[in-house]
Amino acid sequence: MTIYSRRPSKTIKRDDLLHPQISGNKWRKLCYNLSDAKQQGKKTLLTFGGAYSNHIYAVAAAGQLLGFKTIGLIRGEKPAEFGATLRFVKSAGMELHFLSRTAYRQKEIPKIINQEKCFLIPEGGTNGLAIPGCEEIVDEVLEQMDGKAPDYWCLSCGTAGTITGVISGLAGRSQVLGFPALKGDFLKDTIIRLQKEFNLAEQHNWQLITDYHFGGYARFQPELIEFMHSFYSETRILLDPVYTGKLFFGIFDLIEKNFFPKGANIVAIHTGGLQGIIGFNERYGTKLPDETDI
Ligand SMILES: *Cc1c(COP(=O)(O)O)cnc(C)c1O
Repeated sequence: MTIYSRRPSKTIKRDDLLHPQISGNKWRKLCYNLSDAKQQGKKTLLTFGGAYSNHIYAVAAAGQLLGFKTIGLIRGEKPAEFGATLRFVKSAGMELHFLSRTAYRQKEIPKIINQEKCFLIPEGGTNGLAIPGCEEIVDEVLEQMDGKAPDYWCLSCGTAGTITGVISGLAGRSQVLGFPALKGDFLKDTIIRLQKEFNLAEQHNWQLITDYHFGGYARFQPELIEFMHSFYSETRILLDPVYTGKLFFGIFDLIEKNFFPKGANIVAIHTGGLQGIIGFNERYGTKLPDETDI
């Protein structure tokens, strides 16, 4: 006799294990950009990001590893003291320029930078070349599951490049649930715009779950932190508080609320971002487990 469980089966795609520094979806989004930069003979990578950005961190690490000079244009005033992310990127040789919020919004490149020599990667690494990299997440999961696509693919969203690639890779199969790490419903339009911009087929098998931003980008509430501690003590898998912590909190909450049909298979994509935990603990006095704990 088979006893069907109400509880869905859960699988985690561990992209956090791809590389200790160029982790998760940032590696997926960078990989074809880096080979294009090499082919074009560019020696410098130029990109944008916040002072705690996983993308800035990944670009600095990739540049150091592969022999590119890197320049980071950072949002906001130069802080009196650097947080963990900026300390790392500086030690990896990244040249930093701090832009006012207005200049950053307009993606102004300081005049002293010779743009001709640079390979420009947008904020978060989301561009057309990021898409094939993210499509490969789908290929790898399907390969491990003997071609049988899970019913639900859950992942965290920031600039929505990763989810756009995953939707494209699935080509209409399964349901994709995006959990925005930011407040607001604008990401829906972003995904539709990216699909047009990158000439991808329009798909409808996705939706955004907008209830788990915990107040907005890099905001949190005690229940999120509590959940992350208990998730870690049960699984020994680290989550970051900005993206994947909120994603996993949301998935578990939806399971409790019987959102998923009986017997559904869920795959959660662990997009990495663990470097950010140390800086988060420094800023907010939280004591989340970080990479030094494993
Ligand atoms: C950057 C990041 C995201 C968001 O990816 P987008 O492609 O910008 O939507 C999700 N998870 C982690 C861990 C990240 O670092």
